[in-house]
Amino acid sequence: MLIKRKSKRLKIRKKRIWTAVLMFLLMTAMLAAAMLITVSSFISYIVDNKVNEQLEMMQIMQSDYEENRSTGFADKYGIDCFITNTEGEEIFVYGRNTCDMSAPAALETAAMYRNEYTIYPDKDSNVLTPDGEGSLTFEIGKFLKEAEKYLKANESVSLFTTGYGSDDESVDPYIRLPVWISTELFGGGKLFVKSMVTVNINYLMAFLRIVAIVAIIYLVIFVLMIINVISNISVRNKLMKQFLRDVVTGGNNRVFYFSKGEPTVRKRFNAKKTYAVLSIQFVKYLNFCICHSIDEGDKMLCAVYDVLRSQLSRREIAAHFDSAEFAALLEITGEQELRERTEKLLALLETINPDHKLSFHIGSFIIGVVTDDNGKPVRRKTLDLEECYNNARTAREVLLDSDASGTAMFDEKLIEEQRWTDTVTEHQKAALENEEFTVYYQPKYDPRTDELRGAEALIRWQSPEFGFVTPNRFIPIFEDNGFITEIDHYMLAHAARDQKRWLDAGLNCVPVSVNVSRAHFIEEDLAEQIRDIIDAEGTPHGLIEIELTESAFFDDKKMMLETVKRLKEYGFTVSMDDFGSGYSSLNSLKDMPLDVLKLDAEFFRGESEDGRDRIVVAEAIRLARNLNMRTVAEGVEVREQVDFLAEQECDMIQGYYYAKPMPRDDFEKRLSGKTDREG
Ligand code: C2E
Ligand code: CA
Ligand code: CA
Repeated sequence: MLIKRKSKRLKIRKKRIWTAVLMFLLMTAMLAAAMLITVSSFISYIVDNKVNEQLEMMQIMQSDYEENRSTGFADKYGIDCFITNTEGEEIFVYGRNTCDMSAPAALETAAMYRNEYTIYPDKDSNVLTPDGEGSLTFEIGKFLKEAEKYLKANESVSLFTTGYGSDDESVDPYIRLPVWISTELFGGGKLFVKSMVTVNINYLMAFLRIVAIVAIIYLVIFVLMIINVISNISVRNKLMKQFLRDVVTGGNNRVFYFSKGEPTVRKRFNAKKTYAVLSIQFVKYLNFCICHSIDEGDKMLCAVYDVLRSQLSRREIAAHFDSAEFAALLEITGEQELRERTEKLLALLETINPDHKLSFHIGSFIIGVVTDDNGKPVRRKTLDLEECYNNARTAREVLLDSDASGTAMFDEKLIEEQRWTDTVTEHQKAALENEEFTVYYQPKYDPRTDELRGAEALIRWQSPEFGFVTPNRFIPIFEDNGFITEIDHYMLAHAARDQKRWLDAGLNCVPVSVNVSRAHFIEEDLAEQIRDIIDAEGTPHGLIEIELTESAFFDDKKMMLETVKRLKEYGFTVSMDDFGSGYSSLNSLKDMPLDVLKLDAEFFRGESEDGRDRIVVAEAIRLARNLNMRTVAEGVEVREQVDFLAEQECDMIQGYYYAKPMPRDDFEKRLSGKTDREG
């Protein structure tokens, strides 16, 4: 069972070019607006000043009229004007009255002069409009139209012709913009005068030219910046693609799977959807590579990826992890659909190679909809996809023992198992230090004489937290995580210590066998380690027997043989445990100088009708005897079996018929002959 790994994952988001483009457009618009505002404020400023110039002329005309009270003044100045009485009725007009009285504005600058002046737009030209707050708004759009009219009429002047600032002011082209200015007259009534605000086109053009150049420079810099940003983004995106791509299949890799899959499942939008995480393993991929070639193997992986991809919709994710491992994230409606899809996928994968039937293991984990108290789906905002994948893989690993194709779903039992594995792993070190592991002894009896002839030391965990735990609940975990080697040392030391104590107490000691796990056999000096542990307790080697499980004989035979030989040299008895439990190890019997053969309990589980099992047991005992080995029958529970084994001259029986594994003190009593055997 695997140990849960949690890692901080990199969040990857591809930068998109269109955001840069959008920014570019936005900035361009902002720049244009800024330019427009600058130009129009500048012109407004000029115009305001020009209007002020007009006020002087207005004052002269007013004084002239008030001094003489004669309308003759109008001829003198030749400017369009009119006078109204206190009721606002027009009593005199010179020229044309084109004053637009609908939008008057008092002039800010009026205080400088004697009276208050009010300004009105001209009906013929509305380029200058009072803004109601004592100033004029310059309508640039309308002005440009006026300017256009002017430019059309005077083709020699264009926006980009130079020639402004000619020495002869009189040849400078002007645009004249009319406004009406009114002032109160002494004795009531008002005088309205049409004033011409003149704008020198050449000056204006020069200004516009500068603005245009600045704008172009800005724009060029800006475009360069944007090009730089876009090229950076595209380089980054290319690198990112590389980073997320699997080199063998050219498809998605592990990083892509998690960085894309997790946000997808977490999205609020997807809260109503059910997902399935698949962990797919190409079984015996290495064998395939050895038989064919790595190149062929790679081609096979590509084909697997393609088949996987072909079975997914666009929204689903496929990825190739390491060597023969693939992953997928599916959107499903439920368990039934998942079952159908994985079966179909498996069928397609198995026939990928026309010459061989390949096998695959598929483990799956369903990510269900999470609901609130009212049954409404809520976002899976803390979901950890890696954990889900580990669950799918855990489900898949259930199939590890078989080379045939298969599918497995993660269920509650597996979650429980996973939790238990984590708990045991977490507690193992402290449990060992606190001596929570105790040694139980299961006696071995001679079936012919019913005499106590030996015992096997079996571990038990007396946990203050979990109570009494039997070894099948933790030994396989220790075998997986490697802690078993420490356990073996612990058991050897404790069994040796007990034996020494009993010996010193003058008890009639019998050999005690201790299990040594196959994980240990990769250590070259295993025999010396065992010897040193026993010697540290001062126990005679003849009182200790080493049990090696049958499957261990399939690992490194040469090393095993060396270890067995040396153990025997040091005076230990060596036995083969679980003989006949699955692997045929007759070959090992041929090579290994073993002392004891322990017949697996399976031989004694239920009797076959034609008595074939008895024949096998009898022959195994005979074989062992011919090889100078003693036999121990394990798991014997009934009298008939004992009688049969006695008949066959089986040396010892270790089974519930005689005794269950028992605490040290109980076994000690048996040694001192105080109690009879159980049965
Ligand atoms: P094993 O080495 O084959 O041990 C024999 C197992 O068969 C023991 O289970 C024992 O209680 C059980 N047994 C004995 N007689 C009978 C019987 O008549 N009927 C039935 N139903 N069972 C019987 P236990 O103690 O639960 O140990 C299970 C396995 O755990 C052991 O199988 C061994 O593989 C492992 N184990 C136990 N203690 C240790 C240890 O100290 N070190 C290592 N490496 N493995 C250990
Ligand atoms: Ca054993
Ligand atoms: Ca056994």
